[in-house]
Amino acid sequence: MASSKAHHATGFAAGVIAAAIVARIGGGGSFHVGVLLSFVTGVIGSTAPDWLEVAWWSRARRLWITHRTLTHWGVGWLALLAVSYHWLGHSLYAAPAFGFACGGLMHLFADWPNPLGVPWIAGRHSLNLWNSGHCDLIVVAASWAAAWFIGQHVWLHGVHGTALLQHFRIG
Ligand SMILES: [Zn+2]
Repeated sequence: MASSKAHHATGFAAGVIAAAIVARIGGGGSFHVGVLLSFVTGVIGSTAPDWLEVAWWSRARRLWITHRTLTHWGVGWLALLAVSYHWLGHSLYAAPAFGFACGGLMHLFADWPNPLGVPWIAGRHSLNLWNSGHCDLIVVAASWAAAWFIGQHVWLHGVHGTALLQHFRIG
């Protein structure tokens, strides 16, 4: 994995991205609660793929599944993202779920460049760029660049940005 510091730093970026999108589309129910929840769950979600595989309920705290398998499955996170995005503005639960999915995907992106790779669809794929913990700065910088790009796009060119996003929205 990328270092946990890197996961946290990228997690904040994921939270910002999720909150910006939720703020634009609407959280359903209370607007501010939705934005806040999506930010918080974005940060939490960014470390989720790693802590989800630890049996924290048991004393031994062993991994109950192999590291970087199911909890790092790209399709699962993307599905959660798509479903929660679809429900944004319709259900209060959509905003935190959306944030969580943004965080999880951010985690996958942060893990992707190092040699163990990430099982996006089937089988692991690695960008094979560097070893764990190296070049965290690049990963963090990229995540914040994305947050800045999406944030300013959503806030400044809201109509534009959401018009693009609406393509992916069914309802
Ligand atoms: Zn990981």
